[in-house]
Amino acid sequence: MAVTPDPLFSRVDGALPALSQMEVSALEVVRKQGPLSRTDLSEALSTSRASVTSIVGSLLEANVLTEIGQGKSEGGRPPMLLDVNSQLGFIAGVDIGATSIDLALADFRGTILEHSSEPIDIQMGPEPLLTQICDELEGMLARRGAGPQDMLGIGIGVPGPVQFSTGLLIAPPLMPTWEGYPIKQYVRRRFPHARPVVDNDVNIMALGELRAGAGSDLDNFLFIKIGTGIGCGIISNKTVYRGSDGCAGDVGHICVDYNGPICHCGNPGCLEYMAAGPAIASKGLQAAESGQSEFLARRLKENGGVLTSRDVGDAAAAGDRIANEIVRQSGKMIGGVLAGLVNFYNPRAIFIGGGVSKIGHQLLSTIRQATLRRATALSTRLLRIEYSQLGDDAGVMGAIWLAMEHVFIANG
Ligand SMILES: [Zn+2]
Repeated sequence: MAVTPDPLFSRVDGALPALSQMEVSALEVVRKQGPLSRTDLSEALSTSRASVTSIVGSLLEANVLTEIGQGKSEGGRPPMLLDVNSQLGFIAGVDIGATSIDLALADFRGTILEHSSEPIDIQMGPEPLLTQICDELEGMLARRGAGPQDMLGIGIGVPGPVQFSTGLLIAPPLMPTWEGYPIKQYVRRRFPHARPVVDNDVNIMALGELRAGAGSDLDNFLFIKIGTGIGCGIISNKTVYRGSDGCAGDVGHICVDYNGPICHCGNPGCLEYMAAGPAIASKGLQAAESGQSEFLARRLKENGGVLTSRDVGDAAAAGDRIANEIVRQSGKMIGGVLAGLVNFYNPRAIFIGGGVSKIGHQLLSTIRQATLRRATALSTRLLRIEYSQLGDDAGVMGAIWLAMEHVFIANG
C-alpha cells in the first residue's frame, strides 16, 4: 500500500512524521513481538540486515523506537534490543454504544493508563456527545501532566455502518442524527496532532479480541455483538475484513421471519429486531403485564415500570419458565443465522460479546446448539463458540489497537 501524505495531517506543526510502509511494518512487528534485536526484526520482515539498519535508524531518529539495553549474546557482542517508545505520546480508545460509552487512555505501547465507562443516550446527537468525550480525554491527559497536543491517535467505535475511508456514518438506524457527521474533523479540532480513526463498534471488538484476547492465535474468526442491535466483526487472515464499502458483517438485518414485524430499517422480521436486547425486554414486559411471570412482574414493580433484557436473564437463571423460553427463542434465531455464516465463512471460532451476552449461559448454550445443529459437519468439527474473553473491554482495546495501527498511515 502506498503511503501518501495526508494534507490535513502533515501541515500540523509538531505532529508525527509520515512513515514509509516498511517503517510502519517494522513498528508493528516491534509492537507485537518486541523487545527485539535488529537481527530478529530483519528475520520477521524477511528483509536484509542492511535495510533494517536503515529503517531502524530513521525510526530511532523520529523517536518512535528506542533502544532499551542489550539482549542475550549468541556468541559475539550482545545485540541491542529495540522497543516502541511508550513515552512518545498518548493513544485513546473510544467505544460508543447506543446506551453507554467506554473511554481509555493508553501509552504508545497500548498499555491502558485510565479507563472510564458511563451511561449515555446516543440520541443526544454527535456534537454534545463528542464534546463530552473530548472533555473527558483532556481530563485524562491533564492528570498525567499532558495536554491535547500530546494525543497522537484516537480510535472510535460507533454502533452503525461506517464508510471506513471517510469515517462517516451512512444511514445509521440506531443513531440517525449522526448521518454524515464529520467525527474525525471534530476530534482533530480538539486534538490537533491526533489521527482519529472511526470504525463500526463490532469491528473494533473483533480487533480487540484478535490483538489482546482469545483470538490472538487464530487466523479466521467472527465476533458477534448482541446488544441493542446485532452485528458481526470478521477477522480474515488476522485482519479485519470490512468489505468494499466498510459495512461487511451487518448481519442484524438478515431476515429470520418474512411475516415478522417491521424493523427500523423498514424490512420485516430482521434478526436484530426479533432477537436483540429490546426484543427480549419487550417480550419480558408482556410476560410481566399478562401475569405469566411472577418473577418479572415483581421485577417490573421494583424497577418502577421498566424491564431490561438483563431482568429477563435473571428470571431465566432463577428458573422462570417464560423467561427461559424468551431467551431460548432469541438464542435459536441468532444460532440459525450463525449456522449460515459458519457454512459460508468456515471460521475457527465465534466470540460473542455485547450487553445482552451478559444475560447468562442459557443464551450461549442455545446459540451453540442451534448453530451446531444447522451448520455442516466439517465446518463445525473444530469450531469454538464462546463468550468474548475481553468482555466489556473488547471495544476499547480494539479502538486503541485501531488507533495505533493507523497513527502513521496516511488517510487512515
Ligand atoms: Zn432491519
